[in-house]
Amino acid sequence: MDEYTRIWKQILEEISKNVTSVDYDMWFSKLEPISINFGKLVLVTSLKSVQSILNTPEYQKYIMNAIKKVDNTIVSDYIIITSDEKDSYLTSKEPKVETVINDTKPLFNDKYTFDNFVVGSSNNIAKSAAFSVAQNPGNSFNPLFIYGGVGLGKTHILHAIGNYVLSNNKNTNIIYATTEQFVNDYIESLRNNKTDKVYEFREKYRKADILMLDDVQFLQNKEGSQEALFHTFNDLYQAKKQIVFTSDRHPRDLAGLEERLKSRFQSGLTVDISSPDLETRIAILQKKAYQKNFNISKNIIYFIAEKITSNIREIEGALSKVIFFCQLNNKDCADDLELVMHALKDELNMDTKVLNMDTITDAVCAYYNITKDEIKGTKKTKNIAEARQIDIYLINDMLSVPLMSIGQYLGNRDHSTIIYARDKITEQIKSEGRIRMVVKDIQNMINKN
Ligand code: ADP
Ligand code: MG
Repeated sequence: MDEYTRIWKQILEEISKNVTSVDYDMWFSKLEPISINFGKLVLVTSLKSVQSILNTPEYQKYIMNAIKKVDNTIVSDYIIITSDEKDSYLTSKEPKVETVINDTKPLFNDKYTFDNFVVGSSNNIAKSAAFSVAQNPGNSFNPLFIYGGVGLGKTHILHAIGNYVLSNNKNTNIIYATTEQFVNDYIESLRNNKTDKVYEFREKYRKADILMLDDVQFLQNKEGSQEALFHTFNDLYQAKKQIVFTSDRHPRDLAGLEERLKSRFQSGLTVDISSPDLETRIAILQKKAYQKNFNISKNIIYFIAEKITSNIREIEGALSKVIFFCQLNNKDCADDLELVMHALKDELNMDTKVLNMDTITDAVCAYYNITKDEIKGTKKTKNIAEARQIDIYLINDMLSVPLMSIGQYLGNRDHSTIIYARDKITEQIKSEGRIRMVVKDIQNMINKN
């Protein structure tokens, strides 16, 4: 394999860790390396749109950061040319454009800042708590535990804390690790029973001024790592060092985790991020379009915001697709609904999946591991009764069917039973975190199907 192909592969791999899969497929994967010219990796694309998108500062950074990250001494910069420009570029002796290379490896994605974080009712508490921690690490909420579904901004917030703290004091020792990295570090430290490795691991994590561990749900059933984290936590906590965790669920709902760790997780402030409401989705789209320097009409923004509701990563992906399609069609503004619908046909299809009493009940039964006969039947064991009530709640919440029909559907139960169940769960969602989580989990299951 050519040197440039090998290096480009590594760079691509690094890029893929930091961009959405849509961005990756649409832009980065469309480049082909053809040579290294004066330390510059020469990348070719047949599409002008790919070249112009990737030459915006936002995307340039992804490539530059990846170049700095991969281990090589040959490539320090790159240039993107179109197929038409290839011949003239390769015959010219001097590289045409010079860009300044900054040598420091950034620890945090500089796109993920508090300024770039759009706030709405779904995430304002998490954002305020994180901001307070960033302003006053160790003396605000400790630990801060942020939980919520995928693509809702947890990692963004951790990077925002990192960026903020470093901008105030670049000497702060911040350790940001995915839980996977932490677990790997721990396993590595045990290899060959070398005590100095174990020592190194402990020192690394315990010297942190701020420790941020992303996605701690992956600690499930990893006992050794849990123990290591437990001790790290205690040391840092006693030394008043800031600790921040994220997870896809509330600590109490983390199965396969030691109780003592769960209780540490909850000993500071626990906040959630939920799916963004319509206004927030609109604001996010406006902000992202603006950042990408792309004009998009209000109607189209509204349309996408209405249709793509699951999470922010998907909203971003949808916008990237729309931009791509507009570029292909030589439009510098999205105001053509038909074109947008064409661009988003896969995403929109997802939304037209059937949702009815059966699909909801199936999800509830799967969650509680019971059969449909049981949920419609007369058994009143705690598990089944709860599943039934949640089913009633969800059907009423997600579909507009008369209460009577819900009763008929669920084994001819009468109207008052349905009202009772609906009101009970509504109440419990407010007062009981566990029920809230169960309902959310099932809703997520239904929306994913
Ligand atoms: P999570 O870690 O919760 O899975 P991420 O932090 O990776 O989610 O967010 C997914 C994408 O959505 C990122 O590109 C992030 O910048 C963006 N994002 C999430 N929340 C917001 C927000 N409130 N404002 C702007 N962008 C957001
Ligand atoms: Mg994340």
